Amino acid sequence: MLVTHLECSLTGERYEPGQVHGLSSAGKPLLVRYDLQKARATLTREDVARRQRTMWKWSELLPLPPGVAPVSLGEPETPILPLASLGSNVLVKDEGRLPTGSFKARGLAMAVTMAKHFGISRIAMPTNGNAGAALAAYGAAAGIETVVICSAETPETNVREAAAYGASVYVADGQIDECGRLVAEGAAEGRWFDCSTLKEPYRLEGKKVMGFELAEQLGWRLPQAVFYPTGGGTGLIGMWKAFDELEAVGLVGPERPRMFAIQAAGCAPIVRAFEAGEEFAERWEHAATVAAGIRVPRAIGDFLILRSVRDGGGAALAVEESAILQAVDDVARDDGMLLCPEGGAVVAGWRRALELGLVGRDETVLLFNCANGNKYPLADRARRLMLADARPRDL
Ligand SMILES: *Cc1c(COP(=O)(O)O)cnc(C)c1O
Repeated sequence: MLVTHLECSLTGERYEPGQVHGLSSAGKPLLVRYDLQKARATLTREDVARRQRTMWKWSELLPLPPGVAPVSLGEPETPILPLASLGSNVLVKDEGRLPTGSFKARGLAMAVTMAKHFGISRIAMPTNGNAGAALAAYGAAAGIETVVICSAETPETNVREAAAYGASVYVADGQIDECGRLVAEGAAEGRWFDCSTLKEPYRLEGKKVMGFELAEQLGWRLPQAVFYPTGGGTGLIGMWKAFDELEAVGLVGPERPRMFAIQAAGCAPIVRAFEAGEEFAERWEHAATVAAGIRVPRAIGDFLILRSVRDGGGAALAVEESAILQAVDDVARDDGMLLCPEGGAVVAGWRRALELGLVGRDETVLLFNCANGNKYPLADRARRLMLADARPRDL
């Protein structure tokens, strides 16, 4: 474990490791910093290739203290698959293979591991679904009491999944940021530890492993563009940090992918701020989209998302609901892969970027599918059959 300190992402103010942290004194996310010179000595291409293919193999660049076993449900390296119908250079990293069926497992495995290490006995978060389910699962594995407050339109499967792990689950009558206010109030009263997106520093460290994995899987050559369904933006911010760390340890060069933050037209605060040239994003009122994971009216890491998008020459793009649903249908029928709606948004976002000339058809692009499509309600397209009268030739 090579953590040297933590640092405010806005002001650079330093914080000591080895103690419980939430936000910085400026109310912004904290970033974990490592002794990258030391990491360089052991984190070589050859050594990394020999390690067991789980998120924990990146130990030099993870905050896991020495001698501490991770709270793990078995987090595999996720596959990168070509979407043949869109072109052999269009790749999908399928995060639906992780425990609880979404990439929220990466961040929460790391956050809950650290919470357990610090002796925290009660954790809470607001959720649109997948994060709450993952928090509840890792909380159960760690023996930590878990409180999950779901936004009004959280998919029912997720609400029930979180409750199945024994968490105290509430469905509120508001959006995720409004649920977050209640969680923050409870944390301030000492009732629980706040595990909201970017409000504790370790979830980001678990999530950034996506960046490490894709670099190694693509032969240490980063793709030309990455398309990411953006809610709180943890993955985008985490990958951007991961690429810098990989460069500092000598595993990749200075080239970076163009990062595309994809949002739904019904909830696009980052797109609006990107287009207006703003550093921070204002709250999006009346947020609505089927892609629950990206229904986030306000993101505390807004400026970090916008930085990663702008620094690499990418863009923030909004896609319509009809384009999201169409993309899910197309990829299921043409490629046999059931994307989650957020994954559909990403495919729609890539199509939009093609139209706008922001990517070329022959560029190598990596699209993220962040959850298993089976976690979402699907259209009922089957016909009913009375077996007594059924004849094969009528089918
Ligand atoms: C949470 C979630 C997202 C958004 O991820 P962030 O890193 O918070 O922006 C996208 N897709 C799915 C399926 C999610 O569960």
